Amino acid sequence: MKKISYVNGKFVDHKNAFVHIEDRGYQFSDGVYEVVYIKNNVALDWDLHCRRLQNSLDGLSIKYRVDGTVLLDLVMQLLQKNKLESGFLYLQISRGVAPRNHDFPNPLVTASLVATISPEKLLSEDKYKTGMVAITHADIRWKRRDLKTISLLPNILAKQKAMEEGAIESILIEENQLVTEGSSTNFFIASDAGTLRTHPANNKILSGITRSCVIEIATKNGIKIIEKPFKKDDIFLAKEAFITSTTKHIMPIVEVDGHNIGGGKVGEVTKKLIALYKEFVENQVEKGKI
Ligand code: PMP
Repeated sequence: MKKISYVNGKFVDHKNAFVHIEDRGYQFSDGVYEVVYIKNNVALDWDLHCRRLQNSLDGLSIKYRVDGTVLLDLVMQLLQKNKLESGFLYLQISRGVAPRNHDFPNPLVTASLVATISPEKLLSEDKYKTGMVAITHADIRWKRRDLKTISLLPNILAKQKAMEEGAIESILIEENQLVTEGSSTNFFIASDAGTLRTHPANNKILSGITRSCVIEIATKNGIKIIEKPFKKDDIFLAKEAFITSTTKHIMPIVEVDGHNIGGGKVGEVTKKLIALYKEFVENQVEKGKI
């Protein structure tokens, strides 16, 4: 099966899906992106992704109006052309192609829009039952982490370090020892009493769509959440920990920097949330089908 991708208004063979060498995304990381989980032809949390995409574009003053209906139509065409019903959508918008100058092109050029679909590849069920390992890593990113930009060097270096150490994620720590989030995930811990803690959604983290859903689901089900920064040492005192993202959903973390969390076993609050999140996804898929 030939993989088909979308580049600036055209569906093309993935092998020939190119942008110009003077695309500002390529030269300056001057662009933004979204990753969306598609299940049975339903793009999960689509409106939330569109809103965050617009917010990222506005944050970089890229003149592109996100029209959720038009974009969704494009995504459905892309799915059909790839003969897929489920998968991960990658959508990227850069400021466009212009001779290389740091300041914005004047007059403005058309933003570049590219999209790809990859088959659904979730981590195995086992990992959700046994939990995974994480390490900590210095957070050396800029101060607008709330924007989902394609400028991801500090994130990829931290992720690479995790992989080299046999871990799934690097939990990022600021100079003042405060925990922000994972290199490509949000991070939660749970105390003895089952209260969850996670960093508040401000400029220091990316406000994950999965994070917001987990907070909503937890609150509805009587699980208390405190959105306040906590310190690296609090991780080691925690009874449970997990990371969240569109591609990993809720993944339990049972070891950080060689310290067991909750005796190295997945805790009850995490298990409950995994089950509730699964239900939440299934409900959306059911509703989306009507
Ligand atoms: N934080 C960072 C830094 C990320 O890159 C991501 C995923 N792109 C997340 C959190 C999780 O966000 P989401 O739940 O929207 O996938």
